[in-house]
Amino acid sequence: MFRNSNFDSFCAADRPLYESIAQVLDWQFRYFQPVERIKALVGAVAGRVVFTTSFGLEDQALTHLIVESGMTVEFVTLDTGRMFPQTYDVWEATEARYGIRVQPVYPQAHALEDLVATQGINGFRRHITQRKACCAVRKLEPLQRALDGVAGWITGVRAEQSVTRSGMAFVSDVGGRGLLKANPLLDWTRDQVVALVDEHAVPRNKLHDHGFLSIGCAPCTRAVQPGEAERAGRWWWETEGSQECGLHIDADGRPVRAGISR
Ligand code: SF4
Repeated sequence: MFRNSNFDSFCAADRPLYESIAQVLDWQFRYFQPVERIKALVGAVAGRVVFTTSFGLEDQALTHLIVESGMTVEFVTLDTGRMFPQTYDVWEATEARYGIRVQPVYPQAHALEDLVATQGINGFRRHITQRKACCAVRKLEPLQRALDGVAGWITGVRAEQSVTRSGMAFVSDVGGRGLLKANPLLDWTRDQVVALVDEHAVPRNKLHDHGFLSIGCAPCTRAVQPGEAERAGRWWWETEGSQECGLHIDADGRPVRAGISR
């Protein structure tokens, strides 16, 4: 077990240690089931472990598995203020089912006021630069606060969701700052996730029954047609790539968007 991690105490000299721990966990994860993976991560870090959920199907499956693991993990969501009503419904149903509280992190009021005053309430539709500015205020900055002082970060990323995600590790020391990011469902298929959710009657977003495979902010998500990629319904009007909404950490420890592809 190692102690980590917040921005104030992290020492660059510790970086090789965190990288080694991440590599060992990444190797172990290949042989573990998701509940064992969650336990291994929590057992490997001495600091807080946070699961960032957006209440999609993978996140709902992970919520079930985290509760099943009995591990102490904080549930956090980034409430952008533009979510579907159905997402708030599944948020409430999840808390009731599992007896948990999901901690919301909201955009900073002054930054949001400036954003809307500058580009309008739906300015993100006009140009990718404005869309990224909106995501920065509503998602990226709140994510940075959500992860401040956190040692372990659990996400619902699956490799088959996109080209970008297919190259991800099970566990990585994101940004080289001693924050271990773990993806316990990385090697799961969508069918496996659906089977778990169905078997255990896990609360699920009703939009999944209407062609929404990946659900984000309401104005930036649409249903997809049979055969379309899972994430094809996100920012579908853009032509410059980057339909990836996964939130990542750059080399300087700042949250950024991944670069590409459906
Ligand atoms: S997904 Fe759309 S509404 Fe949500 S933060 Fe990004 S640009 Fe804004």
